[in-house]
Amino acid sequence: MSVSRFRALEEVQTRKPLTVSYPSDKVSDYYGENVFNVSTMRAFLTDEAFKNVKKAMFEGHRIERNIADQIAIGMKDWAMSKGVTHYTHWFQPLTGSTAEKHDAFFKPIEDGRAIEHFEGQLLIQQEPDASSFPNGGIRNTFEARGYTAWDPTSPAFIMGKTLCIPTIFISYTGESLDYKAPLLKALDAVDAAATDVCQYFDKNITRVRATLGWEQEYFLVDTALFNARPDLKMSGRTLVGHAPAKGQQLDDHYFGSIPARATAFMQDFETEAYRLGIPVTTRHNEVAPNQFECAPMFEEADLAVDHNLLLMDLLAKVAARHHFEVLLHEKPFAGLNGSGKHNNWSLGTNTNVNLLQPGKNPKTNLRFLTFLVNTIKGIHDYADVLRTSIASASNDHRLGGHEAPPAIMSIFIGTQLTDMLDKIEKSIKAGKMTPEDKTSLKLDIGKIPQLMLDNTDRNRTSPFAFTGNKFEFRAVGSTANCSQAMIAINTIMAKQLKEFKIAVDARIDKGDKKDEAILKELQDLIKASKKIRFEGNGYGEEWVKEAKKRGLSNLKDTPRALQPMKTKSYIDLFESQGVLSAREIESRHEIELESYTLKIQIEARILGDICQTTIIPGAIRYQTELLDNMKGLQDVLGTKEAKEAGATQIQIIKEISKHLNIIKSKVDEMVNARKVANKIESTEEKAFAYCDNIKPFMEEIKYSSDKLEQIIDNAYWPLPKLRELLLTK
Ligand code: ADP
Ligand code: MG
Repeated sequence: MSVSRFRALEEVQTRKPLTVSYPSDKVSDYYGENVFNVSTMRAFLTDEAFKNVKKAMFEGHRIERNIADQIAIGMKDWAMSKGVTHYTHWFQPLTGSTAEKHDAFFKPIEDGRAIEHFEGQLLIQQEPDASSFPNGGIRNTFEARGYTAWDPTSPAFIMGKTLCIPTIFISYTGESLDYKAPLLKALDAVDAAATDVCQYFDKNITRVRATLGWEQEYFLVDTALFNARPDLKMSGRTLVGHAPAKGQQLDDHYFGSIPARATAFMQDFETEAYRLGIPVTTRHNEVAPNQFECAPMFEEADLAVDHNLLLMDLLAKVAARHHFEVLLHEKPFAGLNGSGKHNNWSLGTNTNVNLLQPGKNPKTNLRFLTFLVNTIKGIHDYADVLRTSIASASNDHRLGGHEAPPAIMSIFIGTQLTDMLDKIEKSIKAGKMTPEDKTSLKLDIGKIPQLMLDNTDRNRTSPFAFTGNKFEFRAVGSTANCSQAMIAINTIMAKQLKEFKIAVDARIDKGDKKDEAILKELQDLIKASKKIRFEGNGYGEEWVKEAKKRGLSNLKDTPRALQPMKTKSYIDLFESQGVLSAREIESRHEIELESYTLKIQIEARILGDICQTTIIPGAIRYQTELLDNMKGLQDVLGTKEAKEAGATQIQIIKEISKHLNIIKSKVDEMVNARKVANKIESTEEKAFAYCDNIKPFMEEIKYSSDKLEQIIDNAYWPLPKLRELLLTK
């Protein structure tokens, strides 16, 4: 009998929603109170320091050492006024989460006394004990150490009693060891390229920022039940477990009323998020039971990334108070919807224009079309780069699972825009455009805003969909650092827009008027990028066939999805935009592969362990009871009659044996396959071995375990069942 499962279930029955206390009735009273934002800086910094920080934040200026000292003092005074005792450089190593090492502000001085102390040098640069962060060989080869460097474009903030200073993480030889440094470079590249193109339309546009609005999905599970599932605890997902009879078939959870305990949790973390200036505005139930989503107002991409990472951290911390565990894994429960993190992306200007928003007149609509078509062409050329950016062991469970976007990258734009692009493609004839042609096309382009009003197309099966004024990249995983997707999209855009500018300028040099040159170039791009556009059902088998015919890649698992990183086109893309060097790409490839192997290895170990020490013993106990029952029947009825009377028992006894034997032999085979794989030298070959030779065993073992779960006395089943984990109250 499994004590922990039933004890956990009893514990859950006693749970009550927590009462959440708010700092004030008005969010505006405490919004951003834990952020060293511009208004706080004005209060705590000298004029000179304030001006310098603002220049660094908004114009990318360097900060001198003596100014850094002044800033450090201001930051420390502010933090200490809020009860803060420690500070940390907060950074985003390639492990996927964030890292911090806390140092106290106080410093012992003579006479056994201490003073509070913080200076510019400590603000600007730190050397974390970085040897345990993944570096894909960069640090080992060069014997270089890594250091964190202050990124003044992201505001410092307070978590608990610690002042967190956002930093980038680089090696002493200058290579990026994190997600943030290349993100900042990609954002600079797209800024320069998009600003140049904007000059065709509006000379006042001098700066373009990529915007990101993420939507974070997650599951909530009670802590007691979570603790009774070693697989969830150690790998973030259930490795065995039969899908509940009532899952999501009725669609009754989606947008249903949020359970009271979950509501209290949400109110609590939202309050913490507001203090940190994270603009979370939306919350609702998701498709599966116990699945939820929260989404903020969009922000500039780098800040949005920081805020998403902070929020993931907050979710876990606040959940503990409510006796919940937050599951961020992409597929915690087989048979139920997984979790993603849609990345809504656009480009915004210093003049407050969203470049993917249809305009009000032909000129602004042409600008809109320019950015729309360039995005399509960029993604067409670099669909594999986009696919690589979302590859992970956990996201593999989701992509192509008939509930999430497929692993095939395609773009949806809706019927109206499709018609518009078709018109541009067909109506421009070779040679000079006649005035009539131009007028007619301009009229059509002028109609875009009305067309878009009728646009109710909400294809939800497309991985990259235009949704009226932005693209929504839906294939990003719920655990991912959005930087990866943002680095890819913005680098691709930077390259595409630069090429566009060169091509249009060349046409103008040859005598075309500006508008005509732009239209003709757009026509070429539309023609060249047709195969990436798909308006149909992305979840269907038909699309897989059609995509193959079109020559689109379908990279189903991580080792394959990472292969493009070795290609010349991938390396050239990132090198040409100054985002990542060949060496950095090589090291990232290594790190991703290693992380993939480790994750599958851990899962395989846990699964083997659970089978041997929990599932098999539980099943044997029930089988023994059946055998005792059979013995009793024989005693009373005699062997012959007992066989008839105990037909059901005999059948179950045999079935249990069958599945026990399958589980045992498959676990043994899996262990052997691991031993073989572990001897492989090449990181890539090893990842392929884990993918192709070890993962399939896990499926087979789960299948037999789930069969056992369905025939064994409920009282003997040792692990909380999926339907119990998904109890909503
Ligand atoms: P869905 O229908 O997919 O649930 P929502 O309307 O809930 O979409 O979410 C839209 C998301 O898109 C929000 O996070 C919002 O902030 C974001 N968004 C809106 N406009 C932009 C923009 N210009 N750039 C980036 N993100 C945007
Ligand atoms: Mg969405």
